[in-house]
Amino acid sequence: MATITFHGAAGTVTGSCHLLKLGRYRFLMDCGQFQGPWELEKMNYERFGFNPKGLTGLILSHGHLDHCGRIPVLYKQGFDGDIYCTPPTRDIAALIMMDSAHILKEEFLWKQRRLTRAGIKVKEPLYSVEDVFYAHQLFTRQILYDKPVEPVPGVKLTFKLREAGHILGASQVVVEFKEKKSRKWKKILYTGDIGDGGRPMVNDPAGPEQGIDALIMESTYGDRDHRSYEDSVLELEEAITTTVKRRGTVLIPTFALERTQEILYHIAEMKRSGKLSKRVPVFLNSPLAINITRLYEKHRDFCQVFNDGRFSRRRSPFDMPNLKFTETVEESKAIHNVAGPKIVLAGSGMMTGGRIKHHLKHNLWKENTTLIVVGFQAMGTLGRKLVDGAKEVRIFGEPVAVRARIYTINGFSAHADRSNLIQYAKAARPEKLFIVHGEPHAQGALRKTLAKLLPHTEIYLPRLGESFRI
Ligand SMILES: [Zn+2]
Repeated sequence: MATITFHGAAGTVTGSCHLLKLGRYRFLMDCGQFQGPWELEKMNYERFGFNPKGLTGLILSHGHLDHCGRIPVLYKQGFDGDIYCTPPTRDIAALIMMDSAHILKEEFLWKQRRLTRAGIKVKEPLYSVEDVFYAHQLFTRQILYDKPVEPVPGVKLTFKLREAGHILGASQVVVEFKEKKSRKWKKILYTGDIGDGGRPMVNDPAGPEQGIDALIMESTYGDRDHRSYEDSVLELEEAITTTVKRRGTVLIPTFALERTQEILYHIAEMKRSGKLSKRVPVFLNSPLAINITRLYEKHRDFCQVFNDGRFSRRRSPFDMPNLKFTETVEESKAIHNVAGPKIVLAGSGMMTGGRIKHHLKHNLWKENTTLIVVGFQAMGTLGRKLVDGAKEVRIFGEPVAVRARIYTINGFSAHADRSNLIQYAKAARPEKLFIVHGEPHAQGALRKTLAKLLPHTEIYLPRLGESFRI
């Protein structure tokens, strides 16, 4: 008997973790962290709804923290099976999990300083750098797209990864199996996170496989369409060129993975085409983003921009005159003293921490500064306050007047929009459809539309811990 149980991203976007029971074998698809408000994040510390020791293996769709961020916890609780993923995902997951371990440790030390004096015992971090190191030893099975593998010799079961067009190395997962007394093979398709296509940094997503018994589909943007990508690139270019004319600073808060590389590529294209002076300095001010950018160059077969022959091992799409990678804190501080127009990319993406906060403090009050927001800003974050038009904000406890121009550009999402999700589900025509990785209103809107378009498909919005027979 085959079942699937949803242990995360069920009625929410984060914490992807789906358990497949195929006869005596049990595989996990993704094991991500819950992210967002504390009520959600505290679930990272709760017990898994299964025994990690009994798992045969884990298939990882991609390296975002909400898909790989609890793998070190699995390891700590006894998991020692093989982890299957593409080569870029293996490298990206190592950096993302390690970064997470450092952040967890910093948060722990900060809480300890504040709470120990009040006599409150602080919970140990979710995992340590050592846990990440050992967990990464389990990433033993690297799979290329469209090359099926048999995880258990002699058992009628195959895994296949397909291009997802989301971030470097991201995959859709196809699991096929034949139960003992059955004549028919069954097929499960998990989209992981899937993109829109037409993006420079990742190849277009593959269309759905046919003959799907169960489709597990993400629904982040199940209720809305994106602005056109071309318009978003033009808006980015316009914001940069007008600020450079005013001899101001352009600040772009970005997440280290994917958005940074995409924006960096567009700035390099502006310099290559003459839209932007080669003399304008561009700072990539994030050690994690710098390391991830190098992975895009290493795994260029997975990167759309290398397909047309303009770029190669020696000629990177990110290369441009006056690009500076600033790794140390001293180098980062020195950026404040650089006169004239300049462009700074730094994390965190929602401006809640990281080096961007220092740049905001130094520049938000200046009229010739431009802040370009290219990612989602959650409620309560500094980024959201700025996007909502705050005239003054507090940074490191000090009031800072907001005189900078603020651009919000929404078309750079790495997730498929509503129209593309609908088209994908229609093309797949599965027997059963499980809508995951979305807020309830996005899931509900998508289900309503798909119920009309796919009258023969059973559609479910699984709840946390809910199991279904396949
Ligand atoms: Zn993702």
